[in-house]
Amino acid sequence: MDTVASSLRCFEECHPLELFKDDGLQTVTSDEQRKVERSIQNVFSTYQQMHSSPQPALLREQHYQYLKKGLRHLSDAYECLDASRPWLCYWILHSLELLEEPVPASVASDVCDFLSRCQSSRGGFAGGPGQHPHLAPTYAAVNALCIIGTEKAYNVINRDKLLDFLFSVKQPDGSFVMHVGGEVDVRSAYCAASVASLTNIITPALFEGTQHWILSCQNWEGGLGGVPGLEAHGGYTFCGMAAMVILGKEHMLDLKALLRWVTGKQMRFEGGFQGRCNKLVDGCYSFWQAGLLPLLHRALFTEGDSTLSLTNWMFEQQALQEYILLCCQNPAGGLLDKPGKSRDFYHTCYCLSGLSIAQHFGNRDLHHELVLGRGENKLAPTHPVYNICPEKVGQAIQHFHRLPVPEGPRAEAATGETGAMDQL
Ligand SMILES: [Zn+2]
Repeated sequence: MDTVASSLRCFEECHPLELFKDDGLQTVTSDEQRKVERSIQNVFSTYQQMHSSPQPALLREQHYQYLKKGLRHLSDAYECLDASRPWLCYWILHSLELLEEPVPASVASDVCDFLSRCQSSRGGFAGGPGQHPHLAPTYAAVNALCIIGTEKAYNVINRDKLLDFLFSVKQPDGSFVMHVGGEVDVRSAYCAASVASLTNIITPALFEGTQHWILSCQNWEGGLGGVPGLEAHGGYTFCGMAAMVILGKEHMLDLKALLRWVTGKQMRFEGGFQGRCNKLVDGCYSFWQAGLLPLLHRALFTEGDSTLSLTNWMFEQQALQEYILLCCQNPAGGLLDKPGKSRDFYHTCYCLSGLSIAQHFGNRDLHHELVLGRGENKLAPTHPVYNICPEKVGQAIQHFHRLPVPEGPRAEAATGETGAMDQL
């Protein structure tokens, strides 16, 4: 393991040369960028004044206390996430597994009971008990249950009904709507592919045409937009690429163009990532963008690219760790978007996930660690496709692959529909 202690990139004399240059054209965007850089410069220099030998520390105990409390009690500020409750379970449980903090069996069992109440009689999971099923909380609930990884957790998932739900949101062009009557975007393809592959319910018809639809979301920038024709965006690009990896079709994408786009999204001065061109750095893209690099590395490796590194991803891993550890930690626990913003469980999950990606290169067979600061900063690795720890992915796949793949919608249903069409 390499530990980096003495020289921080952000303290190098030439670091200010990385500040944004507006080429004499002042815009609202350039003003905002300058403001953020100034606030980050303040954070860096305050830290430098206080520490003669820099050892950025991950505030493990504070994050743990913040997360532990969130599993049992949320403040009024979370009322707006009433339709995203399985997400809160996932964000907290994944953050805890990255910190290698076990969840007491009684809490895990209560989470299973709660998620079971979120499962719809139509299949799939809703944002809360009694709400309509939706692909996003379905993804979060399945991930949360796989993190818990007990027999009780696996048994919450009604796989036959889940497959019915996935078919109910599948569109003829290969895309998926987020919920019946809802919007189409590339998140839905990823959520569907993720839960279907983890629980072993993929039938030949389920993802028919999906790869072509995802491919049509890659635009001239190299990244993917939410739907064909939209601007490339980190969250959607991750979803599209990860879905293609699950479907075994990642080579259909222009991988080199994607690589060029994503590496250009790491901010020169801040060290973190922006989500789109001309946007500001944000801690959550530490996962959505940096998480693409392991997927790209593997895809290019299987294509036979002999120039790939065997020790590092193709982004500045140290710079990202500096940004997360110095700029994204709330001293009372929890992580955040950028200095001045408040903490929340979403940013805590994705900052920690990005930190884990930046610390661990490779997989079980070929592994190289680069941990900024003390050894205690090291997090558990995360699986770059599902964003849960790799052994939990392995356990879930092992469990569900012992069970038969459900049949999916019956042929009579389709015949019945044709009959109805004939009568028109
Ligand atoms: Zn964010």
